[in-house]
Amino acid sequence: MNPRTRMVRSAVIGALLAAMAAVHAEEENPPTGFTDTPRLPNSQWRVHDDNRPRPRIVAPGTSAMNEHSGNPPSDAIVLFDGRNLDAWQSDKGGPAGWKVEHGYMEVVGGSGEIATKQKFGDYQLHVEFAEPSPATGKSQERGNSGVFLAGLYEVQILDSYDNYTYADGQASAIYGQSPPLVNASRPPGEWQTYDIVFNTPRFADGKVKSSGFVTVFHNGVVTQNHTPLLGPSAHHALPVWKPHDLLMPLKLQDHHMPVRFRNIWIRPIADQ
Ligand code: MG
Repeated sequence: MNPRTRMVRSAVIGALLAAMAAVHAEEENPPTGFTDTPRLPNSQWRVHDDNRPRPRIVAPGTSAMNEHSGNPPSDAIVLFDGRNLDAWQSDKGGPAGWKVEHGYMEVVGGSGEIATKQKFGDYQLHVEFAEPSPATGKSQERGNSGVFLAGLYEVQILDSYDNYTYADGQASAIYGQSPPLVNASRPPGEWQTYDIVFNTPRFADGKVKSSGFVTVFHNGVVTQNHTPLLGPSAHHALPVWKPHDLLMPLKLQDHHMPVRFRNIWIRPIADQ
């Protein structure tokens, strides 16, 4: 075989191997996101962009901050202490439809979002949650719930332990906007923590004056660092600002999956 034929043959074999590897990679990680959604403002990425890099995985370790804290700070407003849903109501009005047992509350699929009776502006929020175990479903259909700050801005809850999905939809993402800095998820069935600092957006004359900001520690690991909001969370669409009051209820999402919650408390930040 002359050198030219050998070169062509090895190029063809190389291309075939690359194509086979690409097909294999696609089979292992089928597309979970989108390539036809609108581009986020001032970003190279689209909403739920399938090409957006997935955050690297960090084992959260065991610092004091990420162990379930037991007793909240003395000035905290306790929203759930494992006994009842007195601080909550259904988003649709009427009593909250989730079940309470064994010191936790659990989403009852189809019963709707639950919202705090009390309204809040800027705050520090502590939430503990556990994903269904054993895990079922894939991508967004695996342990999906959410913490809706001001009832509008979702810090995603998802079983992101060994679960491939689009970057801005995994646990601790600002859903549809900002992926977490890292993936600090614990396995399904284990209790996990979100510690959130929320500065609610400000509006004047029907326009946004301050976007609002979100900081999140997931299991004690910072995953959102004073992240500016782009508007209310939306699926498959760009967020669009809607002016709202300074004080708004906090909501938890019913995404038809039995995610559990315990030990939820909030500390409004003074001078708002
Ligand atoms: Mg969700």
